[in-house]
This record gives sequence, C-alpha cells and structure tokens, in this order.
Amino acid sequence: MTIAIHGLPVARGIAIGRAVMVASSRVEVVHDFIEPDQVEAEVARLRTARGAVVAELQRMQRELPKDVPAELTALLDVHLMLLQDELITAGVRQWITERHYNAEWALVSQLEVLTRQFDEMEDEYLRERKADLEQVVERVLRRLKGLAPPVPLAAPRAVRAEGEVLVLVAHELSPADMLQFKKSVFAGFVTDLGGKTSHTAIVARSMDIPAVVGARVASDLVRQDDLLIIDGDAGVILIDPSPIIREEYAYKQRQAELERGRLARLKHTPALTLDGERIELLANIEQPDDTPAALDAGAVGVGLFRSEFLFMGREGKLPDEEEQYQAYRRAVEGMHGMPVTIRTIDVGADKPLDDRRESTHLNPALGLRAIRWSLSEPAMFLTQLRALLRAAAHGQVHVLIPMLAHASEIRQTLELLAQARAQLDARGQVHGVVQVGAMIEVPAAALTVNMFLRHFDFLSVGTNDLTQYTLAIDRADESVAHLYDPLHPAVLQLLAATIAAGRAQGKPVTVCGEMAGDPAMTRLLLGLGLRSFSMHPAQILPVKQEILRADAGKLAPWAQAVIESDEPAALLTEP
Ligand code: PEP
Ligand code: MG
Repeated sequence: MTIAIHGLPVARGIAIGRAVMVASSRVEVVHDFIEPDQVEAEVARLRTARGAVVAELQRMQRELPKDVPAELTALLDVHLMLLQDELITAGVRQWITERHYNAEWALVSQLEVLTRQFDEMEDEYLRERKADLEQVVERVLRRLKGLAPPVPLAAPRAVRAEGEVLVLVAHELSPADMLQFKKSVFAGFVTDLGGKTSHTAIVARSMDIPAVVGARVASDLVRQDDLLIIDGDAGVILIDPSPIIREEYAYKQRQAELERGRLARLKHTPALTLDGERIELLANIEQPDDTPAALDAGAVGVGLFRSEFLFMGREGKLPDEEEQYQAYRRAVEGMHGMPVTIRTIDVGADKPLDDRRESTHLNPALGLRAIRWSLSEPAMFLTQLRALLRAAAHGQVHVLIPMLAHASEIRQTLELLAQARAQLDARGQVHGVVQVGAMIEVPAAALTVNMFLRHFDFLSVGTNDLTQYTLAIDRADESVAHLYDPLHPAVLQLLAATIAAGRAQGKPVTVCGEMAGDPAMTRLLLGLGLRSFSMHPAQILPVKQEILRADAGKLAPWAQAVIESDEPAALLTEP
C-alpha cells in the first residue's frame, strides 16, 4: 500500500528512487563514500576498532570487583557477544564493500537495520537488547573517531546498479553534511527536521534536485531500499507507490524535463521587462566550484557567496589567509571579470562552525552570529578581510557584511577593513579596491536604512532572516513553519522601504534571500522597484521568464496595494 508523508517543499521536481537511509547517532558520524581501492583499508579500520573495543570490554570484565552484581557481568557478556555477532559484522562489511560507505556510516546503517528487527521482536527481553546494541555501536564509533586517521574526502560517488536511482532520507542533516552530498549521485533528499529556508534546505535547493524537509516521521517510516517518490513541488513523499502512481509521476518528471529544455533557450536572452527595464540576475553560491553553474544559467555575477561554507566542519582548524585568498580568487576568476559579492563569515544559528560543537545557547539565532561573531574574533575577521582584499586584485570583489544592526558595528567593521588594508600595505602585498555592502536582514537595520546608506556602497536584503526576525519565527524549526511567511505585510513593508530608500539615494539594492528566486514573487518584487535579484543558479531562468512577461511600470501601483493589504498572498496572483 502506498504511504504518503507530507513535508515542506524545498527544491522543485520529481525524484523516483530507492531510499538510502542516513541514520543519526549520538556520536557525530561523517558520511563519506570511499573509493573502491579504499574498501580493504576501511574494513581493516573497522576490524581494528572492533578489536580494540573487544579488548576494552574484556579488560573491564577482568578488572570488575568480585562483589559487583551478576547482571553487570552478564551485561558485558552480552556486549561482547553482540560485538562478535556475524549479523552485525557481516552486515557492516557489506555496506562498505557493496555501497562503499565509510566505516562509521556502514556501522550506523547496520545499526538501523538491526534496531528495526529488535523493535519487531515479541520477546521483551530481546527487544530491550536494542539499547545494548546501540551502546556497543557507540563504543566502536568512538574508537573509530579516536584511532582513525582522517578518511580522505574522496569525491563522493555511490556504487549502484546500472541505472539505479538513489534518494537520501535522514532525520536531520547539517548544512555541512548537505554540502558534502553536493557532488554525490543522490537524485533527491528528505529530512524529518528543518524549515523551508533553513540552511540545509538552501544547500539542497542549490543542488537543483527535488527535496522535502520537515517531513517529521519520514526516517521512521521509510526503510532502507524502499522505493520512494519525492515530489519537491508539493512537498510529498510516497513510499512504495503503486505502478499507476509511479507512471503518473514518471509522466510529470518528463514534463518537467521538457520545461527545463524550453527554459534553457532563454539563457542568452537579456533580462528586460516589457517596458524595457534591465534587471540584474545574479547567482548565490556556496563554494568556488559553483561558478560554472552560475555562468551556465546566464548569471551576470555572483550576488551572494556564502563564505561560511569554507569554514564549516573543520573541527576548529579554520582556513588561513592563503587558503581563503585562493578560494575567493578562484570564485573571482571563475566569473570571468563579472562582479562577485562575497559575504563575510555568517556562522551561528543553524550554521554551526562544527557539528560537534553544539550550541549551548538557548536562542542561537539571536546570539553570537554573523558579524557579531566576526567582531568578537577580530584576528579571524582581519584574516578574512585581508584575503578578500587580496582577491580583489584579480577582479571585481564586493564585500557584504551580514546581520548588522548597530552604528557601532558599522564603525568597527569599517575600521577593521581599513586596518586590513593597512596591514597589506605594510607587507607590501598587492590588493584591490572593493565595494562594501550591508545586508539588511534585521528589522532594526531596515528601519534605519538611511544610516546604512550613508556608510555603504550597496545593500542586499536577506529576506530569509528579515522574515525570521520580523515575525519571531525560527526559520529552521518545522513546528512553526506554517507561520513563517515572507508575504506578511510587515516583512513586505520593511522590504519595500529598503528598496525605495536605496533608489532615492541612487545606491544599488539587491534581494538575495530565497524570495528572489521564487518566480511567484518576481512580479511583486519588480513592482516594488527591485532591479537586482540574486538566487541559486537553477532559479535564474524561471525568474527570467517572469521578467520577460512583466511590465514593471504597470506593476508598481498593484505592488503598493499588495503590501498594504492585510493578506498580500491572496492578491499575489492578480491582476
Ligand atoms: C538571508 O537571510 O536572506 C540570506 C540571504 O542569508 P542566509 O540565508 O545565509 O542567512
Ligand atoms: Mg541571513
């Protein structure tokens, strides 16, 4: 019987494939595909870790005081037995040799298969052994982490039967994990947690494959290798679809392919409205390797390079000036002379620097995030600023500062930029001129936009955070996702005022939040006077199509009425 699960649509399209479960564990697990020639080494690594845990448990057994309760000795016996159980060892080995999972991933995958079997056991005693199994696996995982040399990050590739399509299902994926899967073969993603504009969702969207987040129970209901349909337009996942449903979705898939082909013809068409307004379409990227996709979609520059992705998942070893300079330079050169807007590091909230360093703060989105973090680590910030200034010697670099709200933050930021320049001069190192911009993503900034216009060359509106902070809705929390609404009149009025103020001062204003890449919002943004949009490359052509059909002049009075209405969403499809 087909089971349907509803979540939040994140990236459009239909994927039909076999489920690959990425199990969660209390110990942080890196999910890597290993190269075929690493299989033996990976199996050996696992064997060593298991052997070490066996030795550890045996030593514990020997050293137990004589008077401990018999249950404790028995427990250690159970753990040792589980460790040597063929079901576990052979299963884990199979994940490594057949699917080319790294040892940690193989271990948690097998754990998941076995815990389901335990759950179904009639015998209560046996059912309860699940917890023992989890503890034993955790011990091995810890060993693997402690003893293992780092597994080289091979270009992730899944080993699959010819023509087999794989889709990934996880309880939760961090943005860094998601980035890791960017070069993999997965044709779709589902996670239980996450909101539509969470950073995990944003990275999924940038991969241009169907994705659904906030699916709550998906990782409980889906089993390894189940056939799934992911409908990224409707936010629905279908488990074990009937042949008729499959055929219907395969048809939809073919239609979407045709639509893509049709849109591709617009690549070289200038983005002009019917009344001749030229619109700038820029790309959002996460890493320098994304520039070919930006060029391919016909972007005329990068409007947002989220530089924090260079810093994430590195266990505290942040990239030094040289490494950053090379990365920024690659992005600049990759865009062949077009402007590249690089945002200074925006970590915190749902983008921790390191997954292992869980935030201890109750409200991380309101805490030491983005520019607040940079100003609290001036040496780190200066390093980034120097790297950016050096990259500017190779092309047009615009530096964008996230989450500013206070005059003091503006002052400190600009002082540090001047200091970085002076340091490079003192070293005699070549650097270039940069335009400096501020993100408007906190209501306080939108309400004092003229202060920002006095200090900065351009503004970029981060509607994802502007919505989050205006409405007090955590953008990464699926339980309040129904209240997260970029079309709330309060958000729209802040946005409209920012665009209008920029135009009045003759300074460029871009929108780089997810709203800019949503074709349903294009006419409204044009009507509000926006002339520069930055979005994932995959969104550029659908948005351009809307632009080509729009008359910006005629849209202005309508857009004004929309933002003044109590329920703008209801007017969006008019006139
Ligand atoms: C935004 O907040 O809209 C934005 C573009 O920045 P990020 O999504 O990275 O927070
Ligand atoms: Mg933001």
